[in-house]
Amino acid sequence: MTKFRCPDCKQLFDLEIEEYDEGDFLNCPECNLELVIELKAGKPKLKIAKEKDIDEEDEAGGFDEAFEEE
Ligand SMILES: [Zn+2]
Repeated sequence: MTKFRCPDCKQLFDLEIEEYDEGDFLNCPECNLELVIELKAGKPKLKIAKEKDIDEEDEAGGFDEAFEEE
């Protein structure tokens, strides 16, 4: 278990981060805000999902295009 803090209500809560990947969504148990997992310098962080406009049009299936490398 890893402790995370909600970026909005500042509530600390436990999360089994091993079960999540970058880009996964979850809801804050306190304020129910939609959060998204983001990796920063290899460490998972929580961000508010609706902070910026994300194209959610292409949800055809999977995260295939998330990690493309040259
Ligand atoms: Zn919250």
